[in-house]
Amino acid sequence: MTYNTSVEEKLLQIIKKFPGVGQRQASRIVYFLRTLKNDEFNTFVSTLKNIKENTSYCSECFCLISSNSATCDFCGKNKDHSKLLVVEKDIDKDVMVSSHYSGDVFILGSLFSVIKNTILNPERLVSLKDKVLKNNYEEIILAFSDTKEGQFTTDRLEDEFKKYGYKGKISVLGRGISTGAEIEYLDPKTIESALSNRK
Ligand SMILES: [Zn+2]
Repeated sequence: MTYNTSVEEKLLQIIKKFPGVGQRQASRIVYFLRTLKNDEFNTFVSTLKNIKENTSYCSECFCLISSNSATCDFCGKNKDHSKLLVVEKDIDKDVMVSSHYSGDVFILGSLFSVIKNTILNPERLVSLKDKVLKNNYEEIILAFSDTKEGQFTTDRLEDEFKKYGYKGKISVLGRGISTGAEIEYLDPKTIESALSNRK
């Protein structure tokens, strides 16, 4: 019994880390998993394993892709290397490129923490530095959510780029966007105007 309880607790702790899942939803998911029929459960576990084994990162923008390709469809087709768009997450990239953006993209993976003054995966900063130094970008567009951490990330990256000796233009999205707005929830029209009004 003690063993079962600790296993249940461990699973609960893992599921609580899923985006948008609180204690109550996590308990419901754990209950659901425990009551699955054996064949359904085995399919779930093997699919979960497969998705991890078949996942890698695009070598250009670092979005998640399946392991059998080197780059994502967008980077594979993109011919405009005059500018670079930096975003926080995969979904932000999807939203931005759906609005006729052409140019390179880079996914930072997280925002800078105001308190810790770093990002969750600092190795991504090294890849960003390599990309900026390797390509002679005319412009780098920083497209983060209009939140305290988004603003802090913009400031920190501007400092980093200057440290690398980057001499091109650095721009941010034009703010018709309301304060606190997360990129992923913006509609294509707002994104388009934010991109064309960048400054
Ligand atoms: Zn890519």
